[in-house]
Amino acid sequence: MSSMLTAARRQRELERLPSEHLDLLVVGGGITGAGVALDAASRGLQVALVEKDDLAFGTSRWSSKMVHGGLRYLASGDVGLAFESAQERGVLMRRTAPHLIRPLPMAIPLGHDIDRKGQALVGAGARAADLLRASTRTPRSVLPGPRKVGVAETLRLLPAVRRDGLRGAWVNWDGHLEDDARLVVAVARTAAAHGARILTRVRYDNGRLTDTLTGESLAYQAKTIVLATGAWSPGTTPSKGVHVVLDAARLGHPTASITVPVPGESNRYVFALPHGDGIVHLGLTDDPLDGPLPEVPTADEHEIRFLLDTLSRGLEVPLERSDVIGSFAGVRPLVQGAEGRTADLSRRHSVTLEDGVLTVLGGKLTTYRRMAQDAVDLLTDVRCRTRDLPLVGAGSTGRDRLSRRYGSEAAEVARGTMVTVAEGVPVLRAELEWGLRAEGALTVEDLLERRTRLSLVDAWGEAARPVAESVLEEGHAKA
Ligand SMILES: Cc1cc2nc3c(=O)[nH]c(=O)nc-3n(C[C@H](O)[C@H](O)[C@H](O)COP(=O)(O)OP(=O)(O)OC[C@H]3O[C@@H](n4cnc5c(N)ncnc54)[C@H](O)[C@@H]3O)c2cc1C
Repeated sequence: MSSMLTAARRQRELERLPSEHLDLLVVGGGITGAGVALDAASRGLQVALVEKDDLAFGTSRWSSKMVHGGLRYLASGDVGLAFESAQERGVLMRRTAPHLIRPLPMAIPLGHDIDRKGQALVGAGARAADLLRASTRTPRSVLPGPRKVGVAETLRLLPAVRRDGLRGAWVNWDGHLEDDARLVVAVARTAAAHGARILTRVRYDNGRLTDTLTGESLAYQAKTIVLATGAWSPGTTPSKGVHVVLDAARLGHPTASITVPVPGESNRYVFALPHGDGIVHLGLTDDPLDGPLPEVPTADEHEIRFLLDTLSRGLEVPLERSDVIGSFAGVRPLVQGAEGRTADLSRRHSVTLEDGVLTVLGGKLTTYRRMAQDAVDLLTDVRCRTRDLPLVGAGSTGRDRLSRRYGSEAAEVARGTMVTVAEGVPVLRAELEWGLRAEGALTVEDLLERRTRLSLVDAWGEAARPVAESVLEEGHAKA
């Protein structure tokens, strides 16, 4: 079956829905729901996934885009979770999504705020991370080993780093996603290729389905409902995480991420991660979210200031508010059951089946495949296949923009209009066209906010809006 998601396919599948006998109705089109849909469909089950907005509308597009080796879990004593994370990182980087993930050097500068004892701890952490890599048989050709580098090399990797007292840096490597929303779309399309119906703009509410574009109720028959609604599920402690976006030029175009400890806290850092399009993502806050859960969370001024001030401690020239060119916030769906700060709550997942409703909660982007496997194992004896199942686009690891984002489909995408959407903006009109042709985009926001990430930089989103509108109009005219 084709992996191409289009408005016409959605319509056809909605019309057939009442007569289908589904094994699973998956609710939620984030990484968890998409992962469950792929796992179940690839084991031969009849699956439909419903999402009230768009694929990757929720938390899955607001992550730090790291495919973690789980060092942080090791530091907090959860060896099992660290191993699981490192194992899934290996699966993603080697087999299922090598086109979307690149090794990223993560540098911790050894400056005036890290004494000899701190330096020894950082070194031990880097070696432990490498042990995790080795224990999951991820070769050094995929993730190079850690090393301590001198001042000159530190300045080459991190040109903006603070120089007084600098003694070098520890560098270790982790996986970095080109784009989290693209991972969700790739998983959902791979599920569609195995027969899953991917139905966006369909809301599930207490057993009832509504097409949010028409307001119509939809009839369906399903043996099991899978709730994969992330932070919108009961049983989670929501914790908010904020990033800001900076122009890479402001940090001298770093080629490694820079990590700076949060003063007065153990095992908490802020980090600035370089991205392919000349931007840097600076994160991360981790605070309980009080009050009702917003549809789309936003960064508060004090959170932006905290990130700028903390990173500035490690920079030669402190950042200013005017350096911020965008910001975003997400809500972690942490599993309830532990006391303490949200930053300390476990990132483990939980899977429970009760009265025909399977609830999948918690976890990380990195471990989505394992979460899905654990969930679907409760429903069938058929063996899980996803460890060796490449996602659409897997196979090419070219470094040009289209290969980085579309992998082996880059040549197909390039058959579209190969002009940038606006001057100084790296995204091509062909990418917007592909969003409609293959990736199930239905609105201008789907194109600007999720198929491309134009909206991450305020000025790019504004400049590209008229082009996205015209691509959508052309698409409607052709349909
Ligand atoms: C700031 C931050 C940074 C992070 N960084 C990383 C990282 O670097 N690496 C990593 O591995 N993990 C990271 N994570 C964790 C990871 O992003 C999340 O664990 C993961 O994205 C959760 O995915 P999900 O599918 O469970 O939830 P979501 O992505 O929120 O998906 C739930 C979906 O359900 C839909 N929905 C809700 N209610 C309904 C309904 N009634 N009907 C239909 N649809 C509905 C929503 O619209 C949404 O699209 C980070 C999280 C945060 C917040």
